[in-house]
Amino acid sequence: MNLTVIGTGYVGLVTGACFAEMGNKVYCVDIDEEKISNLKKGIIPIYEPHLATMVIENQNKNNLFFTTDLKEALDRTNIIFIAVGTPQEGDGSVDLSFVYSVAKQIAENISKDSLIVTKSTVPVGTGFKIKKFIEENKINDVNIDIAANPEFLKEGVAIQDCMHPDRIIIGSENEKSAKILKELYEPFVANHERFIFMDVKSAEMTKYVANAMLATKISFMNEIANICEKTGVNIQSVRLGIGSDKRIGYKFIYAGCGYGGSCFPKDVKGLINTSVENGYIPRILSMVDEVNEIQKMVIVDKIISKFGDDLSNLTFAVWGLAFKPLTDDVRNAPSITIVGELLKRGAKIKAYDPKAIETFKREFNNENIEYTSSRYDALDDADALILITEWKEFRSLDLDELSKRLKSKIIFDGRNIYSKRIEDCGYELFQIGC
Ligand code: NAD
Repeated sequence: MNLTVIGTGYVGLVTGACFAEMGNKVYCVDIDEEKISNLKKGIIPIYEPHLATMVIENQNKNNLFFTTDLKEALDRTNIIFIAVGTPQEGDGSVDLSFVYSVAKQIAENISKDSLIVTKSTVPVGTGFKIKKFIEENKINDVNIDIAANPEFLKEGVAIQDCMHPDRIIIGSENEKSAKILKELYEPFVANHERFIFMDVKSAEMTKYVANAMLATKISFMNEIANICEKTGVNIQSVRLGIGSDKRIGYKFIYAGCGYGGSCFPKDVKGLINTSVENGYIPRILSMVDEVNEIQKMVIVDKIISKFGDDLSNLTFAVWGLAFKPLTDDVRNAPSITIVGELLKRGAKIKAYDPKAIETFKREFNNENIEYTSSRYDALDDADALILITEWKEFRSLDLDELSKRLKSKIIFDGRNIYSKRIEDCGYELFQIGC
């Protein structure tokens, strides 16, 4: 099949590469000229395991093309995926300006009957609004159908998720569109029935509900962790105790210093906004978001309890800046709140992350942050270590190295990855809910 994917970010680039890997001809379009020029040379703009190889191999096979010229892509394809960003507005609503700008460009350039598929996470009803806009503004007499095919990939394992999806949600207006998308996705689910067909609006809603449910589990456990701390209970034992119940399960019940990323925070707020716009005040969802914001401060509060509110003359080693391991994405990462709060109180930061230093630097241009090229270099002369992202390389500690470099044996573990046993070696270990 011949496809256009508009937007070459975390979702568009991975999806485009995976469709190409299955033998389709895929035109990836972006307005960012530098990104497209780099992609043509095999320079990948994001860190995502296995992505670079897949992109380069499929370009070499002439299955994957990069362009800024949407018309060129639309002239050659009849299935168009929209995968541009849908960030959050200041008031929590969803900024659909990129999506509507794409709709305008499609209307101005579309030259054949096409199926337009939203992969971007968009509020309920957006698909039909896109269709109406294109119908009213198209310059050529073509038929368009729309479908919603929300994306569930997880950064860090995006290729695996895309090549072996748990489910493929296809929201369509008619049988014809559903059939086209089923045919496109069949190679990905050759051995399992993974299709779930529904109407367009239900598919749009499903994506928000999936993220809101996962965010709710995290905020729920963080709240329980805070109660555990007050009552002298260990959240780790409680987690094991409840996770063993199959109705609850072990996933997404880890206490920590809050969730981040480009999806959970904005999608919870987006769903709240949709709800309010439609006359219903959601209570649980508002608390999920509020608990998360408070949770990002838990580590900061522990640091203040230990060192006082004035942190000038203190240096903190920070391990992990990405919002989760295996990605360079720092959008809404707890590290941004924690580092920002420490800097505000006069602290100096020495930070290390295996992949996210460059993306973090774009958020924070602050002379009081020194970035180091190894995790142990960040410890030199630091007054304490703060673990924010649980990258695998942080899991085991060389205590000799730690005691040689850290000024004091103090660790703030924002992800509960360290064993209490290190307290036997003279370390003060602060964790979440234990
Ligand atoms: P992103 O910000 O990484 O990428 C968006 C890309 O779209 C950018 O490269 C940008 O230059 C490009 N773009 C903007 N306007 C354009 C236009 N008019 N024409 C062509 N390109 C244009 O975003 P992302 O993280 O890939 O997310 C995309 C969508 O997928 C969002 O709605 C998001 O909520 C959803 N989603 C994201 C993830 C994730 O893990 N990142 C997972 C599932 C769903």
